[in-house]
Amino acid sequence: MPQPDPNSNPNSDSAPAPDSVRSPAGRSPTPTTTTPDMNEVVGRDDLLLLTLDTLRHDVAAELAAAGRLPNLTARLPGGTWEKRHAPGSFTYASHQAMFAGFLPTPARPGPHPRLFAARFAGSETTADGTFVFETPDLVSGLAARGYRTVCVGGVGFFNKQGALGDVLPGYFQESHWEPEFSVASPTSFEAQVTRAEKTISELPPDQRLFLFLNASALHQPNWFHLAGATREAGDSRLTHAAALEYIDRHVGRLFSAMSSRRRCFAIVCSDHGTAYGDDGYTGHRLGHESVWTVPYGHFFLEPPT
Ligand SMILES: [Zn+2]
Repeated sequence: MPQPDPNSNPNSDSAPAPDSVRSPAGRSPTPTTTTPDMNEVVGRDDLLLLTLDTLRHDVAAELAAAGRLPNLTARLPGGTWEKRHAPGSFTYASHQAMFAGFLPTPARPGPHPRLFAARFAGSETTADGTFVFETPDLVSGLAARGYRTVCVGGVGFFNKQGALGDVLPGYFQESHWEPEFSVASPTSFEAQVTRAEKTISELPPDQRLFLFLNASALHQPNWFHLAGATREAGDSRLTHAAALEYIDRHVGRLFSAMSSRRRCFAIVCSDHGTAYGDDGYTGHRLGHESVWTVPYGHFFLEPPT
């Protein structure tokens, strides 16, 4: 039996304060994220979960503020990323948690009602607007509601090569991975979006879709996304930023495809960050600010009128 969190508001389940209206004194207003009633969204809209694997919050925020992510900031509430805490420090842990309904947590004191949750006695973060599923994971929960569930993989945990590479794709009715989607491909995101477009175009019109896409471009190696960079010089915050700009240049195609049939509710976030020598740390699967803080946004994509 789960124990209640002693720090949480015991009334939170019945009367959650929307994240969007919280503006604690002494701090800048939180992003204008509104949390929809997911019980209305599920069954009505198509769903997109786009994980920008390994994207650091600080780099994402800097680029957004500098106007270097025009296609993403056009969609993000207030044109900014929300700062959140990753549910895991590396791909496998974080995606297992997200697929169980634990998306990144707002990086400020909670409790924070969740969009999705398995039925779970004593859950402090299941609210009226939470879509509650009876299965162990969100993907099969959406399938039970009639969704076609599709995975377009990216990093190695989605490569379907070997038993471990089958675990995360195995949640989905349909999964895709090609070498061109991998971390080593300079055109990974374009190839992934092309695969998503093909899947979407082949669906019966009335079929609801949950598309998950794990973008691999930001994960090391990413040096080849920066003009003039070399393999010898390796990856850095600058090449990480260039990889995010590469994603931004092509993400409009994905948003257009996902909203081509009906309204789409989209979640765009990172699964964890990564360190580039911060305090001596390199990489992820470790507990450092550069790894635990991630950018997050959710929004609706409206179909063409
Ligand atoms: Zn990852």
